[in-house]
Amino acid sequence: MDEIDEISPEELKPGLQKIRRRRWFFWIIIMVYLPAMLIALRCPQPNQAVGVVFVVWILLLIVAVTLMALVRCPQCGNCFHMNGFMFRPVRRCFHCKLHLTTDKKKLSFSDLEQKNNTKF
Ligand SMILES: [Zn+2]
Repeated sequence: MDEIDEISPEELKPGLQKIRRRRWFFWIIIMVYLPAMLIALRCPQPNQAVGVVFVVWILLLIVAVTLMALVRCPQCGNCFHMNGFMFRPVRRCFHCKLHLTTDKKKLSFSDLEQKNNTKF
């Protein structure tokens, strides 16, 4: 546990940025589906276009989910979004509960109190 406490937010930053990038890629792929389908339906041959858009979208989604599932937590080294075979795109590490924005937060008074384990 002491080893985990010694990692500073600056050291966590590159790993957390990587996780955030992969999460953005995943959510963008999800959000692109509907506009892409609407555009495909306006094509001269909508059946063919919808099929192509769907296959490309599914392949990109598989890539996005795989990248997200395999990304490692910078604090504990386990897969950030995976616990066994369970995949959940939540904002905390499944194993050490590290939050996605830990490197962006400044230490609050209660954090300092907790870290020093003293009451003020
Ligand atoms: Zn972790």
